[in-house]
Parts: sequence; C-alpha cells; structure tokens
Amino acid sequence: MFQNRYLTRPEGFQEFADVTLQKCRKLVAAVLGYSTQEGYKRVARDLDRLSDLLCRVIDLSDFVRSVHPDRRVQMAATQAYSLMFEYMNVLNTTPGLEAQLKKAASIPEVWDSWSEEEQTVANILLKDFSKSAIELPDDKRQAFVDISNDVAQVGTEFVEAMAPETPFLRFASSKLKGMDPLVVRQLTKWGTANIPTAGMPAMLALRTVEDADTRREIYMANRTSARDQIKRLEQMLGQRAELAKLAGYESHAHMALSDKMAKTPEAVVSFLDALAQDNAPRVTEEMRDLLDLKRGDAHGKQMSDELNAWDKDYYTGRLMSSMVSRARTPDQLSAYFSLGTVMQGLSRLFNRLYGIRLVPREPLPGETWNPDVRRLDVIDDHEGHIAVIYCDLFERAGKSPNPAHFTLRCSRKISDEEMREAATLSSEKSSIFATAQEAVNDGLATNNNRRDGNALYQLPTIALICDFALPAPSYSQRPALLSYREVSTLFHEMGHALHSICGRTALQNVAGTRCATDFAELPSVLMESFAAAPEVLALYARHWETDAPLDPARVQERVEIDRRMQGAEIEGQVLLGMLDQRYHSSVPLQWPAGSVG
Ligand SMILES: [Zn+2]
Repeated sequence: MFQNRYLTRPEGFQEFADVTLQKCRKLVAAVLGYSTQEGYKRVARDLDRLSDLLCRVIDLSDFVRSVHPDRRVQMAATQAYSLMFEYMNVLNTTPGLEAQLKKAASIPEVWDSWSEEEQTVANILLKDFSKSAIELPDDKRQAFVDISNDVAQVGTEFVEAMAPETPFLRFASSKLKGMDPLVVRQLTKWGTANIPTAGMPAMLALRTVEDADTRREIYMANRTSARDQIKRLEQMLGQRAELAKLAGYESHAHMALSDKMAKTPEAVVSFLDALAQDNAPRVTEEMRDLLDLKRGDAHGKQMSDELNAWDKDYYTGRLMSSMVSRARTPDQLSAYFSLGTVMQGLSRLFNRLYGIRLVPREPLPGETWNPDVRRLDVIDDHEGHIAVIYCDLFERAGKSPNPAHFTLRCSRKISDEEMREAATLSSEKSSIFATAQEAVNDGLATNNNRRDGNALYQLPTIALICDFALPAPSYSQRPALLSYREVSTLFHEMGHALHSICGRTALQNVAGTRCATDFAELPSVLMESFAAAPEVLALYARHWETDAPLDPARVQERVEIDRRMQGAEIEGQVLLGMLDQRYHSSVPLQWPAGSVG
C-alpha cells in the first residue's frame, strides 16, 4: 500500500511499527544524551524527525483503519496505531525531552544558529509540551494522563451514540401530506407511519410536511437528546475543563485556542459578535420573506403571525423549489461536469496559478485500498515530481460520508545521516529495499529539491476522500458526472491538497496543512470560489457528449440559489460557535462535584 514496502500484507503493519519504534528509541536516546552546543543545535531537527516517525505510522494506520474495506487490514492497522499511540503517551510523560529542548532554546548561540523553520518548530513543540502538563509533579501528571484517556473514551462514545430521546414518532399517514409519497409508503404499516426522529426522513419531513403540528412534534423530538448522551457531554466538558486547569489554563477554550490564529476565547467571541451584527439585516430580510410565504399559505390553518423554528426548513424548502423551477433543473449542470473534465480543469488551474500539473498514474498492484482509487502525481514545471495524491471519490458501503483530506506523509528534508542509516538497512541480506533512497522513506516517493541545494526530500503524500454518487449501471456508457455541489466539494478538498503540495518545508511540523487549524480552511475557501468563477469554468466545464462549453450564467443562477438563505445559515453557525465557547469555558468547573448528570 502507498508503495510502503512493509505494507504488502496485514502483518506488515506490526513490522512497520516495530522498525519505526526502534528508530524512535535510538533518536530519543541521542537527544537525551546531548550536552554540547553542537548537540543542542540538532535538537529541533531531531524532535521534528521523531514526530515524523510517529506520524508515519499513526496518521497512516488511522487512515487505513477508517477506509480499508478488509477487516483484517483494519485490525492490523488499529494494532499498529495503538502501539505507536501508547509510545507517544510515554514520550509525553518523559520530562527529559522537554528539558533538552528548553535548554537548547535558551542558549543564544544555538537559537541564533537555527533557521526560521527550526525556531518555529521549537516554539510549536514547547507549546505542545506545556499542553501535556509534563512539568507537573508525578501525581498530577498521572491525573492528567488518566483524565486525557477518559476524555478520549467518552468523546468516542458520544460520537457513536448520538441519538434522540424518542427514536420514532407515529403518525397517521394522512398527517404527513406534502412529504414524498414513496418515502411515506416505505415507513407506513396499517395506515400508521413510523418516522425516525433523526436522519434523512426527519429532515425530509421538516422540509415538506404541510401540517405545522406534525412538524413541531418532529422538530422537538429531533432536538431532544437521549439522556445518557447529555450525561456523556457533561462528563466530557467537566473533564476537559479540569485538564485545562491542570495544564495551567483558565479554560479548555483558552488551551485549545492558544496555538490558533484566534489565540483567545475573547477574540473568538468578539469576532462572532461582529459577524452576527453584520449579518443581522440579511437574516431579518430572509425571515421576512419566509413569513410572507407563510402568510400567503393556504395550508396554514392556525395563522399565527410569527415564524416558528419548525417553519423555517419548510418555507425555506418552498422558497428554494420555486427558485429552482425558475432556474431549470440544477441537475442539467452535471452533464458539463464529468469527473475527468473536472480533474483536467483543476490541473489547468493549478498550472496557470502555480506551475504544477496533476498527472494520472497507474498504481502498482496493491498500492491502493480499493479498485476505484486513482493515483495522481503532481509534477512541477521546474522541479519535477513533488507530491502524490490518492483520490478515493465514490461512495462505498462502510465508508465515511464526510469528505476529507488526509496527509499520509509530510514534506521533510532527509539528512545525510539518515541516508547512512538507510544504506545499512538496505544492504542487509533479507532487506525489502533495493536502495538506500527507497529505505529512507519506507518505499514512498522522494525527490531532490532544487530550491534547497538538491537535498533529498520525502514528498507529501495525500489522500482525498469524498462520497460522490456512483453512476447508475444503466449509464455504463457515460462517464461519472458530478453535481455542482460535488464539484464544489472536490475543489474544496483540492484546496487542502494544494496547501500540502505547495507547503514543502524542510521540517514536517510546519509542512502544508500542519498549521493553525483555523487558517487551514483558507486555501479551500478560495478554491470553492474559483470553482464558480467564469474564467475557471472556461477551463473545464464542457458537455460530456457534445463538448459544448457551459454558460457561466447558469452556474451563477445555481450559486444564487445556494446563497438565498445564507444569512440564516451564517446565523446558525454563529450560534453553534457561541454555544461551543460557552461549553468550553470555565463554567463546567463551577458545577458542584458529583452533580454531573
Ligand atoms: Zn476543509
């Protein structure tokens, strides 16, 4: 897999983890032993390599266990993940590494000898150490580790057990008038419909059911969480607050924001306030439009003169469908968005802006985890091969529906010393590597970096996951056609990929998307705007059969439909943000002990 020479069979994960663990131990021993200036100068680079080694196994196996269809491979990946994760926890409670880094950073000759990247990485790592409470006395440090594990555990449970208090509601099917009759029929037995209060049918009902009382009941049930879930949430928030306190922060929000662009909860709240204020006139206008629709609605029996929470989706749906019918069916756009055409368009866009191209490359046997995964090599006009992208774009049973970008390996400069170590590894009789260059990056792609004196670099290796609808088998003659939303998603994820591709640094802690997470969305947001720009559409949007170009005005119509209720959408996000800030403030610390739940 991924040309990683260890991963040719499930047992390879164990071997990969073991070999990497040996390299880590050697490196840790070396760092702990430094006592001269020359030694201290190496600390930032060595610790960066240490976290690269950990990430090589942790990121990759975390990815594999979530996407690989084979159970045995999933389990092997999970084991490798746990092994490395445990080791990382041990490192986090080994004070020596932090002490050596602090010492190194405090010697002016050492600090001044460091490159900007090394100084930045040193600061990032010092911050990480402070968040792991490594300086605490033994008993408190143990408490910190225990609570961290609890939080991770209860957090996973919370995500997995998401459910409303009342999972189903029963209605006479006549109450569901307005909803898609096909769906209603599927849910109906003996004249009574059983509507699940979470998921697609509930959303559909809120958008389409004419009877306001029915919508109200579904809305309330949908928004009322199971009690056990509330307990889990309270436990998690309480423990997060405690963790932050142990690490010397006022609240979890203070701790989590300290290395983001926003920096403090105060900055976040004032941003949200300003956004809400700026957005308010738009929301008022949008709500007025919905209320007008409601007033003119012949179906509304009890004509109250206000818009209720359970009216919003319904009248929004009505508003949208009237726009869509005026703008012709949006699906017709997809004839201009065959996957191949869109990929070619992305490549052209990247070439004009950044001088790089996406070149499809046939994967080797076993290199990918599913037959429909495609490999793209990123080629720079001047520097040659600079990155590898695996695209896993279509829906599949058991695959996460959330589009995402994963970094499987970051950019990093490989030192001569590592090459010597790799040469020993590859010269062993039973070695799985043909050359030292292959061994030094486990078989993954490397290249000489012309911008850095031709030094050898490990190349960013990226996976993009989407859940595009598979073309119906009856359309086997037709290429995969994307909806406008799917095109927009692909551009978004490619924005993250681009960040990883262009952010090729010598140290991996500052490579690509390894930056403040609130900054990481910026390239993707820009890319989404590019997708609809007439200049960019001209590069790719062509009819798959006739090759006719797409009239950009039709995309504009579609974008306007998407933006019709944007004020309300922004307000919803602002509210979630404010709630999140409140949840992660110091408030949970004031809950009396034992009161949780
Ligand atoms: Zn994103």
